[in-house]
Amino acid sequence: MTVIKRFIAGAVCPRCGEMDCIRTYRDDEREYKECIRCDYEDSMRLDGQPEMEELETRVNRENKPQIEEGAQPLLFTPNPGTSRKDH
Ligand SMILES: [Zn+2]
Repeated sequence: MTVIKRFIAGAVCPRCGEMDCIRTYRDDEREYKECIRCDYEDSMRLDGQPEMEELETRVNRENKPQIEEGAQPLLFTPNPGTSRKDH
């Protein structure tokens, strides 16, 4: 598969700030951008799926309220009426 890299007219590199130094190419899954003047590199999925899923999950977990001090954890109590009987 031949990768065609094309410059993006007017694109400014977010790292070095140079214009017309960003070129883009893609493969089956992703579109890449790279700067020829510094080592800036970026990529995004062509299907638009978010890539930060793991990070967001981690953040959500950190923001999850902790169990308050003194709160009793719920204990699972088996119902004696449903205990299995052997025949
Ligand atoms: Zn750059």
